[in-house]
Amino acid sequence: MVAMLAGSAASIDRALQATEAALAANAQRLVALDLLQQDLHSPAVIVDFRETLIRQTATLSSVISLSILDSQGHWTISSRFRIIPVIPANPRRPIWNAALHTPPSRSFVFGPGAPSAIDMKSFGVGRSARAADGRILGGALAFLSTDDIKRSFQAIDTEGGTVIASNPDGETLFALPSDTARIPAWARTRWNEERSEGGNSFEISDPEGHGWLVAVAASRDSPLVFTSIKSVDSVFESRRQFATTVFLSTAIALIATVTLFALWVRQQCLTHRKTLIAAAARERLISNLSLDPSTKLYNRAGLEKQLVQRDSVARPRALLMIGIDRFQEIAHALGNSTADQILSEVASRLGESAGPRCLAAHLGAGEFCVAQYDEDPEYLARKLLWTLSQPHRSTGRDLLFGVSVGISGGVQDLQAAQQEASAAMVRARAAGLGNLRWFDPALDRQIQDSMLIEQELRAAIGTDALYMDYQPILALETNRIAGFEALMRWKSASRGVVPPDVFIPIAESAGILLPVARMVRRSPLQAAAAWPQDIFVSINCPAYEFKDSSLPQRIRDQLRTTGVSAERCCIEVTESALLENDEIVLGVMRELKDIGIRLALDDFGTGHASLSYLRTFPFDRIKIDRSFIQGMNSDTTAAAIVNATLTLSRHMRLEVIAEGVETHEQLQRLKELGCDYAQGYLISRPLGEKDIQTFLGDFSAEPRPVADTPDEMKLVALQR
Ligand code: C2E
Ligand code: CA
Ligand code: CA
Repeated sequence: MVAMLAGSAASIDRALQATEAALAANAQRLVALDLLQQDLHSPAVIVDFRETLIRQTATLSSVISLSILDSQGHWTISSRFRIIPVIPANPRRPIWNAALHTPPSRSFVFGPGAPSAIDMKSFGVGRSARAADGRILGGALAFLSTDDIKRSFQAIDTEGGTVIASNPDGETLFALPSDTARIPAWARTRWNEERSEGGNSFEISDPEGHGWLVAVAASRDSPLVFTSIKSVDSVFESRRQFATTVFLSTAIALIATVTLFALWVRQQCLTHRKTLIAAAARERLISNLSLDPSTKLYNRAGLEKQLVQRDSVARPRALLMIGIDRFQEIAHALGNSTADQILSEVASRLGESAGPRCLAAHLGAGEFCVAQYDEDPEYLARKLLWTLSQPHRSTGRDLLFGVSVGISGGVQDLQAAQQEASAAMVRARAAGLGNLRWFDPALDRQIQDSMLIEQELRAAIGTDALYMDYQPILALETNRIAGFEALMRWKSASRGVVPPDVFIPIAESAGILLPVARMVRRSPLQAAAAWPQDIFVSINCPAYEFKDSSLPQRIRDQLRTTGVSAERCCIEVTESALLENDEIVLGVMRELKDIGIRLALDDFGTGHASLSYLRTFPFDRIKIDRSFIQGMNSDTTAAAIVNATLTLSRHMRLEVIAEGVETHEQLQRLKELGCDYAQGYLISRPLGEKDIQTFLGDFSAEPRPVADTPDEMKLVALQR
């Protein structure tokens, strides 16, 4: 009975996990649409999004339909209805309120009933979508069939008690033996306390003085709360069933070991007279808690317990983390029963290859861990890679999938070893599926560090922690400041000022390098509005942004709201190696030029095909990379390149900015060669926005670069 319950609990849990993954993906899509400034209500988006919802619904068991709410909470897209039915709105708006009050990283549940348009008994799970600046963008909803879910529990006899599945507000989603069961008003206060603690059991009297035993099980990771209620009088006669019911609630809510053990200890006190039977049941229960129901291997808690028990006798030589590649996708595509078959097949092959002295565990989601005591770890890893990637026969067809293996050899601290093996597995996977990697502290620290930076950076977007400094650009003919380049800065609370060379590539690979105006609270155009009318602002923009055809309109809007004229705005295309010669990119560039905006090719000379770019794309300026300028006076090749670039650009009527000018000699030489502009520490380091007016004042009083040597430069910087 207990194993059966654990099985149905696990299958519900999997159904919920898969549903939550689909919801998270849909919420993410709302965020992406917002970033790209695409309208959720546009017919093209609706058709495309709806197709995804239909496909997802087909792969999710128990899900009747998936829906999308817009930023006002209006039902906008549904997998079930091409045209959204008009239904009378509930004035309390319970679903929308749940969306507004639940962080986007967590799901909420609601129900039952839901829109009367869905003619099945259902309850719902939802997730809100929020922009980086906290704006609500809408929500993704899934309606699950109550009858379908309950079917998993039909075998349970509650023996006069009640099991209620509810949301954290105590609203019943479904219940046994009947859905009309509610959490009684007199138990609410206590219920709330225990629920927010993660769950517990307690005794309570109703207003008539009858005693009740209530067990609550909730998990931080799941929006479902399970409650079992039973009259104290019946507890003694049917303690076994009660234990079962308690187990059911707890197992589902995934707070297995701790709560259940506590419940059992209390239960023991309550029924101390029948200790013997209780002890047997407890043994069974604990062994169930240590085992993963789908593979019969240890689960995480079981593995840890075994490792600790063996620790005094033997230490493992290595921990291996083995992950089935793309397991979630396989489970989505082929269904839960196939996923279960795969898991048990992998488990049995793992058992055969690893040998009797190894400990094997399934940690969930297709990830296995082997503690290896005698063989050479790498030999075992290779054996596993080979054995596990042989075809698996399932319901008449061959299934092929790969695994990735990470190994940690440092098993002094078991918890650290598990983390290390996991990190190595992530790296093995990144190297292409079906690989093996040892934990490498230096590399993994790097990965870990960029992940931490990414997390912090996400939080910094749109706040004062990200801001712009401005580096002056000198016009060589007039010896006046002609413009400023806006350079992004990140002052992290824990790391101090992080250089853009570090955080920009991380932001980019994490997909969070947004257009400058969205990254910082005060945009370069807002700053430029306060400068003299003849001074331009140069803004860095990665090449891929030119693939977004809404870029010109966004810039036009910003120019209008700040009142800066387009002629004062220059866009520097960085990473020009990525520029694609396609219609969208060229169209965007032409549109920007039509508005009057200047385009500059950044880091000229370092890209792969910079010269051919000059012919293909309509640039107005090029910026010679500082490596050439700095080599100019000593390295004849660098000097020749600078010279040739200047000749070429005169020919093509392009303006040239020399970057990284640090000495007077370099500046002089550039003047002689007819270079238009210079930028570099000699003129000034990047300045804070508030220092610009003073700098301009000082500079026009003494309109020539003042510093020559690095020491002098520092002095000048200090004086400013
Ligand atoms: P970049 O666009 O080539 O910017 C010029 C870099 O050279 C700046 O570094 C600037 O401080 C530095 N520099 C200026 N004069 C001198 C000099 O005389 N000597 C030396 N050694 N360096 C000088 P920074 O601010 O660290 O920026 C590094 C790179 O990060 C930028 O190179 C650019 O590629 C990227 N970046 C900075 N801000 C942004 C931004 O807002 N958006 C994007 N997409 N990239 C940015
Ligand atoms: Ca630049
Ligand atoms: Ca540059």
